[in-house]
Amino acid sequence: MMAFLVSAMLPTRVFAINASDRYRSPRNPERKIRSSTELIVLHTTEAAEHGSLVKLCDRGEAHFCVTEEGRVYRIVDRDREAFHAGRSMWNGREDVDKFSIGIECVGYHDKPMPMAQIEAIKTLVKELQSMYRLSDDKVVCHSHVAYGAPNRWHRQKHRGRKRCGMLFAMPSVRAQLGLKKRPAYDADVRAKRLVVGDDYLRKVLYGNIDTMKSSYKDKSRSADDKTGIFSWLKWRGSETKAPAKSATKTTAAKPAAKTAAKTATAAKPKATLHSVTPPQTKQELIMRGYKIKGSVSKDTTAAKIAGPKWNSPDTYYTIRDKVIPGNKIDPAHIEKGMFIWMR
Ligand SMILES: [Zn+2]
Repeated sequence: MMAFLVSAMLPTRVFAINASDRYRSPRNPERKIRSSTELIVLHTTEAAEHGSLVKLCDRGEAHFCVTEEGRVYRIVDRDREAFHAGRSMWNGREDVDKFSIGIECVGYHDKPMPMAQIEAIKTLVKELQSMYRLSDDKVVCHSHVAYGAPNRWHRQKHRGRKRCGMLFAMPSVRAQLGLKKRPAYDADVRAKRLVVGDDYLRKVLYGNIDTMKSSYKDKSRSADDKTGIFSWLKWRGSETKAPAKSATKTTAAKPAAKTAAKTATAAKPKATLHSVTPPQTKQELIMRGYKIKGSVSKDTTAAKIAGPKWNSPDTYYTIRDKVIPGNKIDPAHIEKGMFIWMR
């Protein structure tokens, strides 16, 4: 009797996500109902909140969008297809939009996000995982599934068209999201359906590159930094300063020997890659012997200017006051007017 009462009182599962419909897309009625849901694909908008929401809504390019303050917007109804993954393949199946949910997160593929946003993404992903019975390794980022058509640098279809959402493959970020597993390998590369087009990205997705470690390393620290705003501000501050050794200062309270040992091990991997901090300003580029090789325009692509070294860590892109090394640049965000520096 009791069991009957309880089940009679419980309606079919209620969608618990607290999401706003303010940017619900007018494209909804024209989108097909999705026949299956096998992946959750995380994206980064690579742009500020307002413009991102307007564009996503207008084009119906995601199911949800999560802002830096942790607000969730519903864009396309979750049972319909949203156009979020573009040219994509996973496990031999093309057009990932047909079997996935897409979540856009306001922010950048290589920058930490505030804890309020991480918490909101975590809640949303958990809810969707339980709704569609998806294990942790079914939560992927756009760069896992996007692929590029053959071009002058890659004669074959290749993984690495985008670095979108790349941080969500990093262990430190996944730990914050409560995700215990990630895809262990790229089945499409293994089966030779695709080749690797971006080796740095491959190491992020499947190897041990984790550039978010210092932002998210200590979960207990969030006791006095609930919003994560301090680590976020620290990152923002580090954009203008050389990030080099400031981190060791904050651990001054620890015994000196321990700190020294820590610094030594922490510095090790860096030293093998670049023995010095990469240049942060145009002045530093000039001082280190870099010269402008050209500027990106409508018919002058980065590949035309820099050749196969367009994504080398020794090639730099500048625009306004930003200096971006080639191995950090997202090909989708190489803008007109960017200068390319080489030596
Ligand atoms: Zn994306």
